[in-house]
Amino acid sequence: MSDVERIGEAQVAFRNANETIQASADRAAILGNIPFVCECPDGDCMELVQLSFDQYEAIRQHPTRFFNITGHERSSVDRGAERIVVVADELTVVEKIGVAGEVAAEAYPRQS
Ligand SMILES: [Zn+2]
Repeated sequence: MSDVERIGEAQVAFRNANETIQASADRAAILGNIPFVCECPDGDCMELVQLSFDQYEAIRQHPTRFFNITGHERSSVDRGAERIVVVADELTVVEKIGVAGEVAAEAYPRQS
């Protein structure tokens, strides 16, 4: 497995974890912010990202988009595995490109 594929696999695992977090968020959490796990390519990253239900939905509608703590995307961007979509303070939204994008789209948890 190449570096780029490994990056994709790590992020797919984080995305699946976040799908579970969102699904189990109770009503109170839906009205406020939900602690999601950072979806950066570092499989050991344990940082949390606070997002509202709607913010999470807006990102998750895209099969190749992920979010992470700003700065955590650097190694993946340098390898050409993703590009930055938007930076909002401590949160950065990225889009996987090339092979990494294909890995992400293939593993998209919301396909019917
Ligand atoms: Zn991270």
